[in-house]
Amino acid sequence: MECICGHLILDNHDHLSNKGHVIPDQLWLDLLDRINSAIERPGKTDKERETACMAVRKKLNDSKRTAWQCDTCERLYIDDTNGRTLAFESASTGVATGIFRGF
Ligand SMILES: [Zn+2]
Repeated sequence: MECICGHLILDNHDHLSNKGHVIPDQLWLDLLDRINSAIERPGKTDKERETACMAVRKKLNDSKRTAWQCDTCERLYIDDTNGRTLAFESASTGVATGIFRGF
């Protein structure tokens, strides 16, 4: 996608340092409960364990909003529940870079 500043934000591979996933707080505890359940009661068979894992993955994917940060101007872009990508400008210019870095 092209940022408002003109910089091109690439999303063409995994482990991007400028991409994140946001989970709304209203969905957070339910997600943690599902993870706990899958760990504590994974099932007796391989199929049941696979089903539990897939249920957690589905819940994660259904709960998250994808987000990106422009490396040039620090704007955030976050998908809303309707599939629109919304732009947010940092009020702390120059200090908000790398907000999605994992390490
Ligand atoms: Zn930008």
